[in-house]
Amino acid sequence: MGFNTICTHLGEIKDKQFKGAISPIYLSTSYAFEDVDVKRYPRYFNTPNQEALCKKIAALENGEAALIFGSGMAAISTTLFAFLQKGDHIVLQRTLYGGTINLVNEEFIKHGIEYSYTDSQTTEGFAQKIKPNTKVIYIETPSNPLLTITDIKAVAELANKNGIITMIDNTFASPVNQNPIELGIDIVLHSATKYLGGHSDILAGTVISTEKNMDQIFHVAKNFGGSLSDFTVWMLERSIKTLGIRVKRQNKNAFRLAKWLKGHEDISSVYYPGLKSHPDHEIAKKQMKGYGGMLSFELKEGLNASKFQKELKLIKSSMSLAGVESTILSPTLTSHALLSEEEKNLQGIKDGLLRFSVGIEEKEDLMQDIQQAIEKIKILALEH
Ligand SMILES: *Cc1c(COP(=O)(O)O)cnc(C)c1O
Repeated sequence: MGFNTICTHLGEIKDKQFKGAISPIYLSTSYAFEDVDVKRYPRYFNTPNQEALCKKIAALENGEAALIFGSGMAAISTTLFAFLQKGDHIVLQRTLYGGTINLVNEEFIKHGIEYSYTDSQTTEGFAQKIKPNTKVIYIETPSNPLLTITDIKAVAELANKNGIITMIDNTFASPVNQNPIELGIDIVLHSATKYLGGHSDILAGTVISTEKNMDQIFHVAKNFGGSLSDFTVWMLERSIKTLGIRVKRQNKNAFRLAKWLKGHEDISSVYYPGLKSHPDHEIAKKQMKGYGGMLSFELKEGLNASKFQKELKLIKSSMSLAGVESTILSPTLTSHALLSEEEKNLQGIKDGLLRFSVGIEEKEDLMQDIQQAIEKIKILALEH
């Protein structure tokens, strides 16, 4: 089955009673024992809707099995705790989603788990941090907010050689643009709140791996209890039907906008892995099928990013990302506000940086919105 056919059909529950076109929702929290060889219970991740959607998600990432969680962080925390225990060590890429960094910095110490962040995102940067007790290497690519790229295959090979499990947060790329299992990664994580959901109305997470790894994750997951309600599972199934067409459109819009911004006289930098000027473009080209719907940019010196944001009419200022509607935020005021000055400098995140989640609108309307906002703030700058 091809990607869009998997999105539309794979795993769907047949409505045998009424022959409806879509999967029915089963909301029971209690199922008769004799019907099934396992006890079905929502917190055991095995209701009919959960199982059906897991098949679709596993197929999208070329994995054997999947689990769906109540949030991306529920998926990430459960998975990390399934493979790490007291005395173990993990190597993490420095540029990770803020929630993941908080989880590691605030929780691991309580459980005696050691961790190191890389100084550089090169494969050598990961190799330098490996210790005899390293059990997991954790990456995220493209990263937030500068869209830096980690060489997935090279890191997977490094980990394999050392008997280390690899995990990737594949949220920014989505399964449309990047399938890390094909590149040798063991475990793929997503915040389904983003591209899998895609309409800014679902909080969910998912993990994909081999049957064996998923079994290990399941045994921790049932204790932590982070499963997703079947209503939302059903909504997520519906959302994923259009995943392929949504994300391809977002790729196209983002690429076009990145090129336009790059040539714009009032923009000083553009960060998009599809641009030849992006320092990691060659790695991105090798491992990504499309370059994604996320980009970042900086306005020229003297133009105020906050004022620019306020002048936008179509593009909304919003914390989250990956919806069909375009959204923008200032990382230093929002997603990365808790980072120290030193940490911001290490990651190269400047105060004027804007992170742009490109939607499915007509690109001309998005360009026009940006243009009119720039012109307004230029007039304001002259008045002062
Ligand atoms: C949003 C996000 C998460 C966390 O997901 P939630 O669904 O908010 O818990 C993890 N990783 C990345 C890259 C994200 O963008």
